[in-house]
Amino acid sequence: MKIKHVVSVSGGKDSTATLLVALQRVSRENLCAIFCDTGNEHEAVYEYLDYLELALDIKIDRLKSDFSDEIRRKRMFIARDQRVKRDKKGRKLRWTNKAKRRALEVLNPTGNPYLDLCLWKGRFPGRKTQFCTEELKRNPAVEYQLNLLDQGYQVVSWQGVRRDESFARRNAKKSERITLKLRTFRPLVDWTAEQVFSFCAQHKIEPNPLYKQGMGRVGCMPCINASKAEFSQIAKRFPQHIARISEWENLVASASKRQAATFVPAPGIATKDAGQHGIYSVVEWAKTTRGGRQYDLLGDLTELATCASSYGLCE
Ligand code: SF4
Repeated sequence: MKIKHVVSVSGGKDSTATLLVALQRVSRENLCAIFCDTGNEHEAVYEYLDYLELALDIKIDRLKSDFSDEIRRKRMFIARDQRVKRDKKGRKLRWTNKAKRRALEVLNPTGNPYLDLCLWKGRFPGRKTQFCTEELKRNPAVEYQLNLLDQGYQVVSWQGVRRDESFARRNAKKSERITLKLRTFRPLVDWTAEQVFSFCAQHKIEPNPLYKQGMGRVGCMPCINASKAEFSQIAKRFPQHIARISEWENLVASASKRQAATFVPAPGIATKDAGQHGIYSVVEWAKTTRGGRQYDLLGDLTELATCASSYGLCE
């Protein structure tokens, strides 16, 4: 039976090290590297993928979710909606004509998976409703693997998961059989972050430059799970990405029945207090200390030319 080894590459350190391990153990013709492009990525991630392709002489397939059909169906639903039911508080469930007009104006596929997903859902994903991971990362990877299974291959899905990454991953298994022909393999499961960086360095592979710019992990820019410190660094270093998210908030709000949408809520600072909508409230909150009640007056003095990496990569 032919076997294909599929490595999911994210542009981060763990998946890069996983790819290096796979290249050591598996012949190149049986190895497939994939990248699930969320569309909410920093440009450094795309550049880093190009760098990896050149440095390792390997092709990384870029996969993108497409929500054109879902958006088309939602347009139809909104245009036809005439429900007369009321919710528990007695509010009408149907779309108002004003909300319909505004939603139909913006509800068109843009080709950006993250934005299209949020336009379709009429909201951003949340920490408890993290549908972004499933729709933008897991589903395209699973579809890719199913295609290989349909072609008669056995598939080994290589994942750069480490147990010390988070509480949720503390019991991650090194290998799991999912079906007769599909199994997962996590070669770094008991590695530390330091081991990962040094393994990449031994192979003369540079880390993604975002690690030296205050990012604890490489994923969406920003990720809904970004820490307060990461939001602060993103606002200072990459204000263009904050501006993009603010534009997306306006579009997604227009596509929603409530005509409101926020990327992530800012604890402790109401939108009206910050004087601006959504993500800019988060930026204001990220400048504060003591649970959002005081501004961090020294925070602005941080020298941005220096390494802000939580892994001490410039030491
Ligand atoms: S990196 Fe964050 S925002 Fe992006 S898909 Fe994953 S959880 Fe969602």
